Amino acid sequence: MAAEKTTILIVEDEPAIVELVTFSLREAGWNVCAAATTAEAWEFIQRRMPHLILLDWMLPDQTGLRLLARIRADRNFSEIPVIMLTAKSMEEDKIAGLNNGADDYVTKPFSPRELLARAKALLRRKAPEHAQAVMSAGAVTLDPVSCTVAIDSNKIDIGHAEFKLLKFFLAHPERVFSRSQLLDKVWGDHVVIEERTVDVHVLRLRKALKESEKLIKTVRSVGYMLSEK
Ligand code: CA
Repeated sequence: MAAEKTTILIVEDEPAIVELVTFSLREAGWNVCAAATTAEAWEFIQRRMPHLILLDWMLPDQTGLRLLARIRADRNFSEIPVIMLTAKSMEEDKIAGLNNGADDYVTKPFSPRELLARAKALLRRKAPEHAQAVMSAGAVTLDPVSCTVAIDSNKIDIGHAEFKLLKFFLAHPERVFSRSQLLDKVWGDHVVIEERTVDVHVLRLRKALKESEKLIKTVRSVGYMLSEK
């Protein structure tokens, strides 16, 4: 079963930095893609939405700040977490980055370890289902790196859609989601499927979870939630 890997886009024109960052983030189990210009990055984002962007300030065609403004102004991409990589340590530049919608910044030279820690913290905050930490509820644990689900440490068989659904529920416990919210958040709004398809996948998920199926609650006329209560 191949669940979607967390994809990080690094926009940086210095090959040595790209190489270093790519190496250390891949170690964390992430898929790392690189773009050397803002134009290349923009094209990438249209094709495939990354879960996090590491954005250099000084790029050959335009500044990273311009690209950041473009991302934040676009309804489809405005929520993507962005960390600015900058050689500029001037206070006003940091402020400009944050004012323009950067979630965090790292000043060069930085240690890959620090960058990784910042990236993980940001993903935990903004998109916990992509943070790569093992998630659990009751006897159920989900490992996003190996893409496996276990009940009392025994691995179970689970389909791709059910895996994504469970991961989303585990990231947002004790919260009710409507079918259309689940479609949006789990399948993405570019996917055209009917709301009752959600019911089918919830049914399959419960079946896969066996005796732990009671974790997934139906909230009548609203939707579904994961609850340990
Ligand atoms: Ca640069």
